[in-house]
Amino acid sequence: MSSTGPTEVGFAGLLRSVIPGTVREERFDLACGDRQLVVRVRRHPNARRLTLRVEPRSGDAVVTIPCRLAFREGLDLARRKQGWILARLARLPQPIALADGAALPVGGVPHPICHRPEARRGVWIENGALCVSGRREHMARRLTDWLRAEARRRISALAAEKAALLGRPLGRVTVRDTRSRWGSCSVRGDLSFCWRLVLAPDFVLDYVVAHEVAHLAEHNHGPRFWRTVDTLTSHAEAARAWLKRHGDELRRYG
Ligand SMILES: [Zn+2]
Repeated sequence: MSSTGPTEVGFAGLLRSVIPGTVREERFDLACGDRQLVVRVRRHPNARRLTLRVEPRSGDAVVTIPCRLAFREGLDLARRKQGWILARLARLPQPIALADGAALPVGGVPHPICHRPEARRGVWIENGALCVSGRREHMARRLTDWLRAEARRRISALAAEKAALLGRPLGRVTVRDTRSRWGSCSVRGDLSFCWRLVLAPDFVLDYVVAHEVAHLAEHNHGPRFWRTVDTLTSHAEAARAWLKRHGDELRRYG
């Protein structure tokens, strides 16, 4: 980098160099009435204007700014829009604890959680209820482990079936708690999925797996890709609409 590259004075008064093509982020605390907000200002090379959003999971205010602006200008926007941020936060869906009596959807079907401390069976489904043995403080972890395993089992079977249909070799299939994407496909053919998809109706899971398997043949979202998706699932349109409408709800659990 040349020593005459552009510089910006950050909020803390430090001189920071701007590296073109990279996203830089600064965090600020903003007192908002009796609330303490976290404001994350991201300077993005492709940003054309200032945008503000509230991240549902963390409740952080995220301001994206173009490279020509200083981080404090992002903070100024958040300060001016405090009322809007607080209104958004008040409307956010509250998290649902994985506790006795709560209803947890599995394959889109609500299953009441039933604590059975005396049993020694781990987690199992009985008469439509999701039963959990052992100590109360371990219920959430046991249920999450079970859901992850269930997601891995269902997704692996679907992915293998669809990859065979497509005639493409399938790499590793993993599940994790991804924040922003429901699934991804690496250039090596490894697929990764968010375990929370096991909570969604089966047709949604079917579509997301079909989408990632289709990337084994087409590494883009062009017309040929979507035609391939349609050969692997008949639910693309309905599932995309469902995820748009209800996707955030899946992130409320646990
Ligand atoms: Zn895709």
